[in-house]
Amino acid sequence: MCGIVGAVNCKNLKSFLLKGLKSLDYRGYDSAGVAYIENDVINMHRVVGRVELLENELSGPINSRIGIGHTRWATHGEPLIKNCHPQKSFHETFTLVHNGVIENYLELKRDLIKKGYAFTSDTDTEVIANVIDKEYENTHDVLLSINNALKIIDGSLAIAMIFKNDKEHLYFAKRKSPLLIGIGTDTNYLASDALPMIKVAHKFIDLSDDQYGYISKDDVKIFKDQKECAYKYTTRNAELLNIDLNGYPHYMLKEIEEIPACMSRLIDNYYDGKEFKFSKEMLKAFKDADTISFIACGTSYHASLIGKYYFEKINKRANVYIASEWAYFPKFESKGKEVFVMVSQSGETADVISCMKLIKKHGNDTLTITNTKGSTLERDATYSCLLYAGVEIAVASTKAYNAQVALLYLLTNAIVENTSSIGLLKNNNIVLKQVISMKKDIKKIANKIKDSSHAFFLGRGLDYYVALEGSLKLKEITYIHSEAFPGGELKHGPLALVEKGTPVFGFITNKCIEAAIRGNFSEVKARKGTVYSFVTKENAKKGDDIVIDDLDVDLAPLAIVMIAQYLAYYTALARNNDIDKPRNLAKSVTVE
Ligand code: GLU
Repeated sequence: MCGIVGAVNCKNLKSFLLKGLKSLDYRGYDSAGVAYIENDVINMHRVVGRVELLENELSGPINSRIGIGHTRWATHGEPLIKNCHPQKSFHETFTLVHNGVIENYLELKRDLIKKGYAFTSDTDTEVIANVIDKEYENTHDVLLSINNALKIIDGSLAIAMIFKNDKEHLYFAKRKSPLLIGIGTDTNYLASDALPMIKVAHKFIDLSDDQYGYISKDDVKIFKDQKECAYKYTTRNAELLNIDLNGYPHYMLKEIEEIPACMSRLIDNYYDGKEFKFSKEMLKAFKDADTISFIACGTSYHASLIGKYYFEKINKRANVYIASEWAYFPKFESKGKEVFVMVSQSGETADVISCMKLIKKHGNDTLTITNTKGSTLERDATYSCLLYAGVEIAVASTKAYNAQVALLYLLTNAIVENTSSIGLLKNNNIVLKQVISMKKDIKKIANKIKDSSHAFFLGRGLDYYVALEGSLKLKEITYIHSEAFPGGELKHGPLALVEKGTPVFGFITNKCIEAAIRGNFSEVKARKGTVYSFVTKENAKKGDDIVIDDLDVDLAPLAIVMIAQYLAYYTALARNNDIDKPRNLAKSVTVE
């Protein structure tokens, strides 16, 4: 994960590096650092902790126009100063920041030590610096050294690198981890995503795997295997990359309350008032397919489960696989046409990218559903659908999940040309706004459960899939142990864990399961557990905790999940947790 920034000929270098790192720190936040050339010397500042600490450390002015920065999510070596990035090479020829994991770093390190190299950190990153350094000792050619190093190093990397006292060039390389070039006016930039550059760069270059090169104040050179590569420019929608808090105390709260607007934006992007705007070719691929297989992780996996239900409703066989499992145990349908749907908020989820590579080799069509234009998964798929949810900063995903579910709803309706679904989705927004108006009631429940050690979520059918997501949200940001079960499974084991006062959250949005799930609530109450029920009006009974207006059963997850999102948010608030940056997690999971 982690975030990288870099700039050449940047007049406000300090401000660019620090603001850029702040905009990227949702990618990792256990330490931060910068390096820049000042008076022909490479200065380095590194702190364990947040970018704000680095800002304190860099209180004076910087007389430099070239620099790199990093916010880390440690994979190799604890968050200690020695392990922070930037890392310098043994001869101090190279200073670099890195995102990724080097698989053969121990082997390479042993080899380098034998050749006289000494190491100061536990990171795999320092190994990259030293492999390039060793190559440079032989070749005295920076680009050739990077090229040779890429042949020796296994694993994922995005690097931004300063070469000795070269104030004119910033070097880079990319494999699997994301890296983007931003073109400004007499200044060029590098970053893990567009956010740090959106206000200063007017166009972008998306890099592909195994490319390397340099940026200078007015030039970009990209190579692969020593051959120069042509490139094309892309743009980004600055409005969708707005990261202002707009008066909200936390991004998570802001992002939950943006959900109705996200729904409207999706409709505008995929329906022109008469017909759906999805690619005709893609719709045909789905119509012709015998099986649809989803590949995703975490929250996107939960959205995919609902997608499976939508596809089955239009008579398509559908599977949902966890990417990190499928990557090691790939399964292709032996009969008929199979289309794969890759769901990833960031479009950079490493586990999903691994699966994508296998699927492409096999020759199947793929659709990527992502919130990030220009991301690896978006570019690598046969078809892509953007979520247009606007950048999501809180590590716990909310609006992107709702957008994924709504997009899958629209897509499956587009396949069967059912435009009446648009009206239903529009009307659904009334209930989503109703949930927002009920947040105080949800907060009261959060205050009641804030000291619990365990919690359980129950549902049946679609409500079970929402229960999975609600439970994940709660554990991510409150650190309360939480699990979700289909109501009927309770008596097959989990009931043993219910004690006096254990909170059990139950959802009811479908009449056909009301009696059954209420039976499960009774089982919990009989063991003195505390049931909190979130239901739609037609299923309501006296004593239910949150009752929302009736809505189309297929769209109920969009409203019910918001109750769970608020519940997690207010519980984390009551526990005084760092809501937008929960411990040990990061947003864009770019390591396997
Ligand atoms: N492997 C590097 C480290 O541990 C970078 C980690 C990352 O990309 O998050 O420092």
